Formats: sequence, C-alpha cells, structure tokens
Amino acid sequence: MEFELWYLIVVPVLFVAGWWFRGLDQRQRDTERQPGTYYKGINLLLNDQPDKAIDAFIEVVKLDPETIELHHALGNLFSRRGEFDRAVRIHNHLLNREDLPAHERALALFELGNDYLKAGIYDRAEDSFKRLLNEPEYHLDAMRALLKIYCTEKEWEKAIEIANTLEKQAGENHQVEVGHFYCELAAIQMRGKHFDKAREELNKALKVDRHSVRALMMLGDLSMLEKDPQTALQYWAKVETVSPEHLTLVMAAMAQAYDAIGQHEQALNLIHRALDDHSSAETLSIALDLITKSEGEESGKKLLQEELARRPSLWAYEKLSELKLKDNPQDADLQLLTTLLKPYVSRPGRYRCSHCGFKAKGFQWLCPGCSSWGSYSPKREEEV
Ligand SMILES: [Zn+2]
Repeated sequence: MEFELWYLIVVPVLFVAGWWFRGLDQRQRDTERQPGTYYKGINLLLNDQPDKAIDAFIEVVKLDPETIELHHALGNLFSRRGEFDRAVRIHNHLLNREDLPAHERALALFELGNDYLKAGIYDRAEDSFKRLLNEPEYHLDAMRALLKIYCTEKEWEKAIEIANTLEKQAGENHQVEVGHFYCELAAIQMRGKHFDKAREELNKALKVDRHSVRALMMLGDLSMLEKDPQTALQYWAKVETVSPEHLTLVMAAMAQAYDAIGQHEQALNLIHRALDDHSSAETLSIALDLITKSEGEESGKKLLQEELARRPSLWAYEKLSELKLKDNPQDADLQLLTTLLKPYVSRPGRYRCSHCGFKAKGFQWLCPGCSSWGSYSPKREEEV
C-alpha cells in the first residue's frame, strides 16, 4: 500500500521534471544558436549589408514560428523597398525548406509571386500564382493576380477566361473590363484586316457590356474600313446616344462620313450641335479644322467670330488672329498679338484619369497609372 502511494506521487513529479528539463535543454540550445544568428543578421542589416544579413538569417538551422515570421517580415521589407532580388531570395529560401508547414509554404509562394509581379518578371509570377490555384485560402487572390498579369501581357483570351471565372466564383463584376478585352482582340483582327473576325469580337463586347462606347466607335471604324460610311454613321450616332460626351472623339470621323455620302449639310449640323452641346477648345479646334478644310479659311474665320460673340475665349481669339495674320503677314500689331497669345494657347489640354488623376496627351481606354479601364474622360482638361 505504501509503495503504491509513493509510486503515485513520484511518477508524475518525474514526468513534469523531465518535461521541464527537456524544455530547458531546448531553451538553452535556442539561446545558444538563434540569438547569435539574429544579432549577427540584425547587425549586418543596420550596417547596410543586406546580402550578408540574408545569409545570416538563412543560416538559422531550425524553422519555428518566430523564425518563419522573421523571414516573411524581412522578405516583405525588401519587397516594399523595391529590392525584389533580395525578397525573392528570402521567399525562395522559405519555399525550399522541407520543414516549412503547408500554410506557410502557400504564403511564401504568394509573396514570391508578388515579388516577381512587382519586378515585372511575369512568366515566373504567373507560374507562382498558377501553383496557388489549388490552395483554397489563396485561390481568388491568385486569380486576381493572374488577371493583372494577362492584362499586362496582353493575353486577352486568358484574361477573359479568368475574369469570367472571378465573376462566377467571387461575385465580382468585370463586364466593363471584359468588354474592353474583346475590343482589344477586335483591334488585333482589324490590324490583320480580318474584318469579319473583328466584328465578331466587337459584337461579343456589346453582349457583355451593351453600353460599350469603345465597341460602337470601333464598329463605326470597321464600317469605314469596309467603305460603308452609312453604317459607320449609324454606330457613331449610337455613341452619342449612349454617352453624349464621347461625341468629341467621333465628330471628325462622322463629319468625314457625311461628306463621303454627299451630306455636307449634315456634317455642318453635327459640327454646330457639338459646339452648342460640348463647348470646349477641343471641340472648337476640331470644328475649325473641319470647316477650314471643307469650306476654306474665310468660313473658318466666320466660325471663330461667331464663337467669340457667343463664348469669348483666348483660344478662339488667338486662332482668329493667326488666320488674319495669314492675310496680312506684314501687320506688326497682329504679329505682336499672336506672339504674345501663343504661349498661353498653344499647349493642348490633357486627358485625365478620373480614378488616379494620371494625365496623358492622347485619349486612353486603359489608364497607364492605375490600370483602370474606361476611366478617362473624353474631355481634355482645359489648360487655358
Ligand atoms: Zn488611373
């Protein structure tokens, strides 16, 4: 009986002591190994020797939650600083560790994909994100990253496939983008003079985004390439219905199409309607160009005088002075006036992205600054 009591007390005590000594041994081994490596690594980082610091951190023999976290933090630090080769080294090292837990491996692969994406190494980024498609936690983010890659790489068919899948799986709306992807495919077909295939793509664009101004504009361009101005005018008229402010982008082509079918009066009506509804230096510049070409400089001057009476602007006044100077090249007053006015009006306004404010000389369907589709206003920012 006494022996049994002793047994019941000592065995748990030995068990607890063994566990504690094992922990002590582990703690001692950790203090012997990891702090030394950490301090060395941190010291090297502080001394601006990042590559040697990475070597030191990679030397850590055993991966435990703290060291894994350190690797992730370091990799992200390099990535944020734009030092992608170093970030890739850290994340690749993590991925190659056989003792890395599965969820940490997926995170390292995701970070590696982002390193490659930011560094512009798209084939490797694509490979990393494709490998993540089977990881439920990263599946949707990997798809979004792949969509970004396919857009940058102009792989429109793959982009359409991914965007459609994201719509189904994540409930996201990519209609406008997909419309643009079909327009991009149509543009390729148009360049190759495969007009039927181009029309197919543009009709697909209108099917996913029935308000696609770009598809309507391109269908008009396509009809002109096929020498069918009547049909072109029908599409461009739809542009004005869907988005009146885009008229400025098609008015020159429309006026030429009216002239091509002998309806010059309609071309003049269109020009005056555009000036009434969308008054700007841009509209007036296009109108002046069209009128001067079709009716001569006298009509151009008349147009400017009418506009100055209705909506006085420095731009119109400078253009009128220029035209007058052509008639009287020796007129010193006119010479001085146009010289003084020119610096203020010669610079055309820029198109501006409504999302990020990125400015561009020409109208853009895809913003080079924030990669948004259809975010540019068709109206130039007036700089005068
Ligand atoms: Zn933008």
